[in-house]
Amino acid sequence: MDYDKIREHFENTILTSKEFESAKPVNELNLLYPPFLEKLIKCFARYNEKYPEHDVYVVETYRSNELQKKYYDEHKSKVRKNGMHHYGIAADVAFYINGEFSYKGNYDFLREIFAEEGLTVLKWELGHVQLIPVSAQSSLRTAVTA
Ligand SMILES: [Zn+2]
Repeated sequence: MDYDKIREHFENTILTSKEFESAKPVNELNLLYPPFLEKLIKCFARYNEKYPEHDVYVVETYRSNELQKKYYDEHKSKVRKNGMHHYGIAADVAFYINGEFSYKGNYDFLREIFAEEGLTVLKWELGHVQLIPVSAQSSLRTAVTA
């Protein structure tokens, strides 16, 4: 995994974004690391081959440390700061079905596709997908925030 490229994206696109300190959830796709976004789009297309009537919807992309801490305090996340969302390499997804926001898409199938495409899903967070394995998170943090 090329952490330098992820760091460039973090420094050039995320650090300079008006959303950097956003206290609210952000779902701007352009804050995602582009190769990660490409993979997501590919996975969504594969999902839609089977479920053309479901739109996979990205609920959250980048996440500020302020919001991360709020989630942590509310026990919505196990991560206190510098989660993978903070680096633009994680996304939380849900669905639009019949024009309505929904969690009733086929997550099992979508998560299977994510894994097949080399992405990482978490047992404890159904809608979450990230670029790198949990075991690589601390080296990523060191490489990007150093
Ligand atoms: Zn997440």
